[in-house]
Amino acid sequence: MTTTANTETAAPTQAVHWDLHYDIHLGETWSQFMEGLRQKKILATGCSSCVRVFVPPQAYCESCFEPTDGWRELPHEGTLEVFTVAWHGFTGGPQAPYAIGAIRLDGASTLLMHWVVGVDFTPGADVREQLPFGTRVRAVWAEERTGQILDIAHFEPVG
Ligand SMILES: [Zn+2]
Repeated sequence: MTTTANTETAAPTQAVHWDLHYDIHLGETWSQFMEGLRQKKILATGCSSCVRVFVPPQAYCESCFEPTDGWRELPHEGTLEVFTVAWHGFTGGPQAPYAIGAIRLDGASTLLMHWVVGVDFTPGADVREQLPFGTRVRAVWAEERTGQILDIAHFEPVG
């Protein structure tokens, strides 16, 4: 990290640049999830005590505090529960504007966050009208998959 002080303005600012490269240990559960994505499979874990289904998968149920006990493959479609629009992009992300959605895949108890495309963001277009509560969305797979979350390139409205 490098910093540069700017004291010439009335309200001082400080430019900050972080350039971080690091490896994340995925662990057994997330490794299996990522391998599933590489194979165009959305894998979830389940809890037999409370019948919750987790995607992204969890090794333990957050309600029962019991280990999850089984893998299942979920459909590639779900319901867009909520979204927000990013009007400014960032390095490594899609070109803005785009929507970030919380998607409940069919059969899942939890929400999966991902990009939602196929939305008209031109001035005058009403994004809320295009993505009303309960909009059905489906996963669009990346052509080249490497076992990471962007193996699902994004979600798009169905129909
Ligand atoms: Zn449970």
